[in-house]
Amino acid sequence: MRELLFYLIFAFSVITYFIGFTVLQRGSGRNRIDRLFFMSSLFSAGWSLFIGAVLIQPDTDRASLMRAIGMLHIFGQLICVTDLLVYWSDVRGRKKRWSVSFVRVGALLYPFVIQRKNVIFELTAYGMSFRFKAGIWSIVYAVFCVMAAIDMLLLIGYMMRRSIRKREKIIASMLLLCVFIVGFGCVLDTTMQMAGVAAFPISAIGQFVAQMVLYRIYQFYNKSRVTLENMSEFVYYSVDEPVFLFDEAEKLSIVNNGATVFLGMSAKECCTLRLNDIFVLDRDVFRFQGNKNRVEARCWQNNNICSISIDKIYDDYHDIIGYIVIVHDVTERVRMLERLEQEKQRADKANEAKGAFLANMSHEIRTPINAVMGMNEMILRECEDEMIVEYAENIQEASRTLLVLINDILDFSKIESGMLEVIEEAYSLKALLKALMTECSMRAEDKGLELRFEVPPDTPDTLLGDEVRVRQILLNILTNAIKYTMKGSVTMKVAYRQIKEQEIEITFQVTDTGIGIKEENIGRLFGKFDRIDEEQVHAIEGSGLGLSIVDRLVKLMHGTVTVESVFGKGSTFTVCLHQQMSGTETVGCLLDEKKHEGRGKNLPLFVAPQAKILAVDDNKVNLTVIRGLLRKTKVQVTCVENGKECLECAARERYDMILLDHMMPGMDGIETLEALKQMPDNQSKDAAVIALTANAMAGVREMYLAKGFDDYLAKPIEGTVLERLLMRYIPKEYIEKMENRNRTAVE
Ligand code: ADP
Repeated sequence: MRELLFYLIFAFSVITYFIGFTVLQRGSGRNRIDRLFFMSSLFSAGWSLFIGAVLIQPDTDRASLMRAIGMLHIFGQLICVTDLLVYWSDVRGRKKRWSVSFVRVGALLYPFVIQRKNVIFELTAYGMSFRFKAGIWSIVYAVFCVMAAIDMLLLIGYMMRRSIRKREKIIASMLLLCVFIVGFGCVLDTTMQMAGVAAFPISAIGQFVAQMVLYRIYQFYNKSRVTLENMSEFVYYSVDEPVFLFDEAEKLSIVNNGATVFLGMSAKECCTLRLNDIFVLDRDVFRFQGNKNRVEARCWQNNNICSISIDKIYDDYHDIIGYIVIVHDVTERVRMLERLEQEKQRADKANEAKGAFLANMSHEIRTPINAVMGMNEMILRECEDEMIVEYAENIQEASRTLLVLINDILDFSKIESGMLEVIEEAYSLKALLKALMTECSMRAEDKGLELRFEVPPDTPDTLLGDEVRVRQILLNILTNAIKYTMKGSVTMKVAYRQIKEQEIEITFQVTDTGIGIKEENIGRLFGKFDRIDEEQVHAIEGSGLGLSIVDRLVKLMHGTVTVESVFGKGSTFTVCLHQQMSGTETVGCLLDEKKHEGRGKNLPLFVAPQAKILAVDDNKVNLTVIRGLLRKTKVQVTCVENGKECLECAARERYDMILLDHMMPGMDGIETLEALKQMPDNQSKDAAVIALTANAMAGVREMYLAKGFDDYLAKPIEGTVLERLLMRYIPKEYIEKMENRNRTAVE
């Protein structure tokens, strides 16, 4: 009988160990509850094992030893269970400290309760049994047990009072049950002995039952915690995205609510499908390297466009047990992208149309201005009547202003639509500054202003940059300075600083003694169409675009432009640019070398009677202007009105330069140039071909050079500009400069 009883208790012990280790393994000891429950299982198992082992001991010495080890587990179990109760009841402060300390201090009784002299062992029908001898230690131990039970009951009572949720009340009731079971076992143990019935290890059996109840509580508690295991199912069913779980044989096994809604089918109907029945797939998407595969496909059922991600699911041995297929419906996104693309194409078209309109307007406006300016220049050159010359000078001034205005508007539109690019080429700073000086000195002289250029002679001359844009920036600032200065001077100071071996930071500082700008207006200077101090400047012509173009051009070149001004005293505009150096020449002395183009008002820069040029333009007035402007140079000018005639002339005769209009009916300038280049019998293949056009939008120069033209001349043509162009392209031996002539004449 006693063996049977021992084996039964031993079995309890094994079961409790097993449960304890399972909990530890599953939870990996991640949280305190797992660890506490594991410890409690160990102590409970030890309690059963060693107290049960007392039953089968033949002598009292060994029985005493087993009891001592068993008692150790009883104290351990008491501490663990109290800790668990403290944790679940969430008691805090003094109450918590008291409960926890009480059982721990109580453990100090252990050395006394295990002493042989305090215990009586006797062999009964159920095996070796023991009981406390009446005395002080038995009373102390009994009091401790009762108080420990009361402590636990208080904790449970606290938990019941505090609990709001149903699950907390259930846990509290189950814990109460545990305490009663253990308490009942202990009381029965003691009273049976008192009644003279042979001691039966009821407390050991009772604590096993209580431990099983505790395990139920632990499971119940765990189920209501936020853990990956608990939540994954919840998450799976609650996500809106369709998620399909396929088994190893690629058969759909489980679908979530998102999937049934997406397909408009019941879960049962869904599970009869394969992936090919759901999506239009042209290959087996389950065959892939790695863990994840992503495909885009259209859904058969609802025609939606989906991005599908397929993940392999593995078992512990890394064999595939299925696939998880998550579907992202990207129909809206794809449609939006398509809409955006359409919008972009529409915007591009509108932009192109705007560009074409601007080019066209540029052409249309410039053509008549060309005629006006050209004819006017001829009057200026040829007329002897002072009054008429004065009228013509007024016309010249007004048409120049009109031209600047048109240029500004067109340039600005081009910059605004992002069509302007900075083109870097080698240029001579000296030539640029001299051209600026020539261009501005007349205007300054007319207003009685002194124009000074202060350039350190060691400034590097050959720079890499966009000469046209640098010139445009400086010309704008210089003309403003002259425009807004009534008396005094305008000074351009150039300074440079070497940044790298081949790079300088060059600063152009334009200072005037003009009307100045109020401090509060300086911030508005670079705004478009913004003219400052209207009442002061209204008599001065301007569009309010110049500085805003300057600002944008400078930004395009990654430079800066700043202003300092004292109202009524003058202003200083400073432009700072980074330019690469391309050579070792320096600017030297600008002024010394300033050549006074020694010619009278009506004299051309040169004469070249042997030079032959061909002018091609569909507009007869333009041809007349060219012919008229070049009359005094004695250059032989042949005029034709279309591309075909141009080719015929080129095949017949050798020209030194061809001025070729771009926009012509039939064959346009670019087509004519291509034909010229391919013509085998071209007598003028060495002639420079100059694009002559009214399309003067910013950036067209680069376009013409890229198309194969040697240079570019914008209408309206100015006589001096045309003469300089000729000087550059016709053979040097034909050119006889006017200053030489004058000198010869003097000699
Ligand atoms: P505008 O065509 O009117 O000259 P800008 O953009 O070139 O347009 O200049 C904007 C405004 O800045 C001018 O209207 C003028 O009020 C002011 N401004 C520009 N340069 C100067 C200067 N050197 N001195 C005084 N005011 C100036």
